[in-house]
This record gives sequence, structure tokens and C-alpha cells, in this order.
Amino acid sequence: MREKSKEAFELACRVLPGGVNSPVRAFGGVDSGPVFVHGAKGARIYDIDGHEYLDYVGSWGPMIVGHAHPAVIDAIHQAVDRGTSFGAPTLAETSLAQRIVASFDSIEKVRLLSSGTEAVMSAIRLARAFTGREMIVKMAGCYHGHSDSLLVAAGSGLAERGTASSPGVPESLAQQTVVVPYNDPEAVTAAFANHAGRIAAVLVEPLAANMGVVPPADGYLETLRTLCDRNDSLLIFDEVISGFRVALGGAQQRYGIQSDLTCLGKIIGGGLPLAAFGGRADIMDLLAPEGQVYQAGTLSGNPLATAAANATLDILAQGDSYEKLESVASSLESGLAQAASDARVSVTINRVGSILSCFFCDHPVRNFADVQATDIARFKRFFAAMLERGIYLAPSAYEAMFVSLAHTDSDIEQTINAAGESFRQLA
Ligand SMILES: *Cc1c(COP(=O)(O)O)cnc(C)c1O
Repeated sequence: MREKSKEAFELACRVLPGGVNSPVRAFGGVDSGPVFVHGAKGARIYDIDGHEYLDYVGSWGPMIVGHAHPAVIDAIHQAVDRGTSFGAPTLAETSLAQRIVASFDSIEKVRLLSSGTEAVMSAIRLARAFTGREMIVKMAGCYHGHSDSLLVAAGSGLAERGTASSPGVPESLAQQTVVVPYNDPEAVTAAFANHAGRIAAVLVEPLAANMGVVPPADGYLETLRTLCDRNDSLLIFDEVISGFRVALGGAQQRYGIQSDLTCLGKIIGGGLPLAAFGGRADIMDLLAPEGQVYQAGTLSGNPLATAAANATLDILAQGDSYEKLESVASSLESGLAQAASDARVSVTINRVGSILSCFFCDHPVRNFADVQATDIARFKRFFAAMLERGIYLAPSAYEAMFVSLAHTDSDIEQTINAAGESFRQLA
């Protein structure tokens, strides 16, 4: 039924590895070919075969105000007429930095760059420089981009040194990363005990959203904060998804725990390539040219990206944006739960604000092992049934659904009806 997408994918595969520029787009996780996109507006996305879909991917997070929002497009239009890149400072960079600093209590200074990968990679370099240590603790199932230090899988024993999870990553570097289960304070305690005086930072998604949505257990973030303080290590929150998503001040505002450094991306670019990391001024001032830690970027703080970013953050800061997101996403959650239960399909739905995941299982989902124990084959069938009904979900059981300000009550109703039929097909 998607003939043009099929042909386009075949053509793309001849010149792009796997036909795409980022692996999950290839739809390998759902055993089909990708949908080639022609354009998008509001909550809807249009493919090159002329089909319309209600979009719950939102470009994997950035499109929280909806696609092609008039205010964002207008800001980009105004910026583009003045030129696309200068390699020199602009006023828009300072005003974006001011918006970020005003939104996050833990951020005194911030650096802008172009991708989340770059943000986390740079935050780690800074943490290593600040502490004079080399090791990093991260959590299984959290994603922090594709830099070498973070493409690492757990070692053989609990809280042991990690091993490379991708060919091409030097084992010597992977060994500087310790991978422990999410929501497991004892494992982090063990990591500090095993590697005393060597851990530069604990890196975590304070609200995990790259294994589906998995909220932090009560007290988990507090424990991480305490352990870092006790061991003179830095706490780095990777809020590339959760920042500006679950509150203006991100997960750290929602859960009331402050990090030393915070990584931002996705939403802050307003759909253009822009990311940031920031935190305590005494740490951030180690960055060149103020300090000695090198970090740079030709397109960092790009004028089109900062224009889209400022416009997007202004929309979010207005009135009741987050209440609206909460209420629409909450009706989606309860509608999905009801539809699944009516069809006698077991699901566990995790939701925080406007991101949610519907896991096919009958157990709670608190970490990556729990996610891996869900029924992935069932998810694939659900995904296909939903796509056929014009609902575009992330093509992977390990991803979240993203609700935007453009999703209306009737969009939610349409989604729940489609889900009802799709669940019944599975039962
Ligand atoms: C998407 C993501 C990244 C990587 O960002 P890119 O812009 O894709 O490089 C890092 N951390 C988290 C939590 C993410 O969700």
C-alpha cells in the first residue's frame, strides 16, 4: 500500500547505508520498510504515497508544539533572510541561554552545540577535567547518543568495567564506563565501592525514555545525588528528552533533584539541529576559551536553530502549556488502558507528562530487563495495525509516544478507537 515509499527506500539503500541516516528510521524494529515523509503540519504527518497519519513520534521528541507551528516557521523565515550562518556571536544565542538559565535552577551557564550526542560527550569531558578522574557510571537502557565512551554494555560482574557495545569503540575506553541497572541504588553504591576515587560522574536520564518511558523510583535520584556528593563525583542529568518536555525545568524540576551538569537537545532546537549542556558556573568556566577544556563547533548556536528554539520555548512558557499536555496525554493513557482491558490484552502503561509507553506485559516496568521481558512480537503486530489505521507510532518497542500541543481531544479519540480495533486483532 506504500508503493512510493517502497521504491524510495530501494533507491536510498543504494547510496545510504541501510537506506537511512539514523538506524531506527529503517523500521527494522517492526520488520517492514520505512514511511517516506513528504511533510507534516500540527499533529499530522504526510507520506509520499498521499497517506495521512496522526504522529506520535514528533521527530523523536522535538516537535512538542506540533509540526510547522506558525510562530516557529515565522521566526525561521525572519532569521533566514538575514543569513544562515556567521561563525560569530549573535544576540539570539544569549537570549536562548537566558531562557535556559531561567528555566533550570541548576544551570548557571550553558554552551550551545548541534546534537545531543555532542552535548553528552562534551559534558563528560568537562566532568573528567573537573574531577581529574576518568570513570563514568551509566545505566542500562539509557541512551546518551553515540559517542565512544557511551556505546558500552555492562561488564561480566555487577558494577564491573564495561565492554564496547559497537565495533570500533576501543575496549580501553569502554573500560572507563561502568553500566549498572536503572532504578538500582545498590548497584551504584557497589560501583562507587569497586572503583573508589576513580568515578568522575554518574550519568543518567532522570526520567528514562529511551527504553520506553521508565520513571525513576521514589528516592532513586536522591540516592544518586547523595552518592555523588559523598564521593566528590558529578551528577549529570541527560535531559535531552525530558528537558522542557515534562516541565519547563525538565525532570529535575518535576522530581526536585538538582544535577551538576545537564544535557539538553531535541525540544530546545524547535526541530532544528541544536543542543546544549550547562550547569554550575565553576564547572562550566573550565570550558575554552574561559578555561582549558576544549570544545567547539562551526555551526554551534546557528541563527536558524536559535530562532526556532527561542520561538518554541516562548510557546511552551505561555500560560497553561504543560497543564494542556498533561490533560491530553492523560486521556490518551486512560483510553488506551480501557481499550486494552476491553480487548483482554495485558499492557503496562508508563506515563510522565506528555510521554508514555504501552508495554505488552503484565508486570511493572522499572528497568531495561523488565522492558526486554515484554512481548515484542505483539508490539510489532500492534504497530502495523495502528499504522494501517493512520496512527504513526515509533517503529520500535523501545521508544516512547510523544504527545504535542497540537494533539486535540478528537485526535485522542481517533487514536483510542484505532487502538481498540488493533488490540482486538491481537487478542
Ligand atoms: C536523542 C538523545 C540523545 C542524542 O541526541 P542526538 O541529537 O540524537 O545526538 C542523547 N541523550 C538522550 C537522552 C536522547 O534521548
